[in-house]
Amino acid sequence: MKYAKKPLSHGYANQILTINLGTGKIDAQPLDEQVRDFFIGGRGLGLYLLHKKITAKTTASDAENPLIFSPGPLGGIPQFPGTSKCMAISLSPLTHIPGVSNFGGHFGAYLKYAGFDALEITGISKKNAMIVIDGFKNEVFTTEAPAIDQVFDLEKAIVEQFIQSGHEKKDIVFLTTGLGAANTLYGCINSHYYDAVKPVDGTKGLFRTKQAGRTGLGTVMINKNIRAIVVLSGYPHGENPYGAADWEKVKQSGAKLHKIVKEVDPQSLKMYRKGSAGLIAFMNKDDYQSLPVNNYQYGSDPRAEQICGKNYAEHLFDHRGMDGCFPGCNLRCTKGGWVTLVSGEHKGKKVWVDGPEYETAAGFGSNLGMWNPEFIMEANWHCDNYGIDTITTAVIMAFVMECYQRSYLIKEDTNGFELNWGDEKAALQFIHDIAYRKTALTSIAGLGMLELISWISEKYIARTGKSSPRKELEQFAMHTKGLPFSLYRTHRSLSMQASYAAASDIGAHHAAAWLVKVDLLGAFPTFEAKAQALITYPRVRLGNDNLGLCKLPWVDVFNPDSGNRKNTDIYINPASQEIYADFYNGMLGTNMTWEKIFEQTDRDINLQRVMNVMTYEKATGEHDWIPDRAIGPTEDSLYEKEKDYNDQQLSIILSKPLIDIQKMKTLDKREILMKHRKEELRKLIGVYYAQRGWSATGIPKVETLKQISLWNFLSDEARTKISAMHGQ
Ligand code: SF4
Repeated sequence: MKYAKKPLSHGYANQILTINLGTGKIDAQPLDEQVRDFFIGGRGLGLYLLHKKITAKTTASDAENPLIFSPGPLGGIPQFPGTSKCMAISLSPLTHIPGVSNFGGHFGAYLKYAGFDALEITGISKKNAMIVIDGFKNEVFTTEAPAIDQVFDLEKAIVEQFIQSGHEKKDIVFLTTGLGAANTLYGCINSHYYDAVKPVDGTKGLFRTKQAGRTGLGTVMINKNIRAIVVLSGYPHGENPYGAADWEKVKQSGAKLHKIVKEVDPQSLKMYRKGSAGLIAFMNKDDYQSLPVNNYQYGSDPRAEQICGKNYAEHLFDHRGMDGCFPGCNLRCTKGGWVTLVSGEHKGKKVWVDGPEYETAAGFGSNLGMWNPEFIMEANWHCDNYGIDTITTAVIMAFVMECYQRSYLIKEDTNGFELNWGDEKAALQFIHDIAYRKTALTSIAGLGMLELISWISEKYIARTGKSSPRKELEQFAMHTKGLPFSLYRTHRSLSMQASYAAASDIGAHHAAAWLVKVDLLGAFPTFEAKAQALITYPRVRLGNDNLGLCKLPWVDVFNPDSGNRKNTDIYINPASQEIYADFYNGMLGTNMTWEKIFEQTDRDINLQRVMNVMTYEKATGEHDWIPDRAIGPTEDSLYEKEKDYNDQQLSIILSKPLIDIQKMKTLDKREILMKHRKEELRKLIGVYYAQRGWSATGIPKVETLKQISLWNFLSDEARTKISAMHGQ
């Protein structure tokens, strides 16, 4: 299909690309102005396109379920740090509700440069398809993809193919997934881009990857028989290449943030050396107990030093070159290094590993009782190569390990295979077996936590003749809405508990409300402040996802000016938010405060909630909960491990002197503590619903949806359903 392309205007291409793989129809459609101005872009626009295509009956594997990629109006502008992000959106095969995952690299930017604000793919291809969007020739076509199941071999073949047809590496970006995505429900999508300056074997240049890891969107991709999506494009040129309303203002805002990143990061988190793995040391602090160890049982371990960012920075990361995942990002957190594989069919091969980022480092490290950074890097590489989400794989593995620890699973259940804390060899085998769906255990593990709980329960009942252990397993099966937790232990952060339970509408992920760090730093001392944070932080965080922005230059680089602000939440980094507002206003020609800009996110937060209601109906609120393990000690020995802290909290709860608390039985203390924490969480979720204008059962009220003008954008089916739920 040949298409016409207009110059970018206010950061928009003003066009959407739709591809139906079933009929072969490819179309470039104008982006409706009303839709654009209401949903902004990225996640918001993607959710709207999804909403328009599905009904309450649509499933993730249906041909009608669209797979959508959507950058935002501020994405792909190298004059400002961190404009790398693109969103992947579809119904999730893992959770059955809308799945959303952001990813870095150049794909979103190139898609826009090629002429599109979003790519929407429906239908299922009969053959392995590769979609090619050629922004040089203004042409889109599908072709047969190389029949290669592993991502890095596929990468090589794709690059060779396009080089042979005369393209330069810097002009080729693409998405892939692998066989693990086909064999599990939590496939990831790899975003490949060329890093021209990383030294390799005496020369320079290397294809690198970022991932859209969460909610199984790689599985949706491979279910549609798509192996790769390639965009060929170059950067726009000219006086005002992205069509900014005020290009000078944009450049000035970019220069300001650039300066702050340059001055602050080397004195604080040192992301440019440690990447996000630098967070390990913070979460591991004795006072915080927030680094998950052995399936979130413990929150700190002295051995974490071996897997902390400093260790990677000093021994494993290759700092040569420029580790920004998009030009202009001087935070440069995209670290990586070389390891020699010790398992799998590529055993003995030296490979480049992009990562690990914090989540992967904690997931395959402390949470499995593993303290070898090279093991973590190898696990990271295999997951990317198979096309499976590192977080989900690691957290499912941790659950299986705890089932062995507590004898809910024994060797006899799994043909002699055992998975224990710290057993690197077995853990690597488990990854390979999941990807190939090799054993009964790994086939089930590939279907996610809910299926795994049922399978282990059945095995246990058959073996012991005892009653179902489902209730016990559910206490430490770390998921919400079927999505395994990202890697934060939440005992000491009520805000983060509510974030996982209710504020994150895709399940237990931190993208919407990563409140744990600032909560631990004391940002929300009162219950009211915690409730308020559940509104304000998702607005900014998910607002960044609508704009095509990376959150790290905002969230991980504290602007010294923010510290001088009075009567405001300084932890939200208001001085940097003002710079972002200048960027936004400069591009879009508006004149809004950062608070007003991000208030707009309420629209897509409510839209996502409406879509969850379409699936969960009256039970929507019941899905807003977390396992006991995320709330507090699930057994006496775990209470004892943090006895001083727990006793002190109990002393406040019961208004009793500490000495009296110390005399109580651990079981009694634990039960009171857990009851209290659960009541607090329930109360906080209730306040969150009320602040959002939702009912006590978490259903958006009709008047709320009308007040924020979302009502008119909803499908008839959604309006009827929401009205009926409120008896209207
Ligand atoms: S901060 Fe890191 S992830 Fe974000 S755009 Fe920069 S390099 Fe990429």
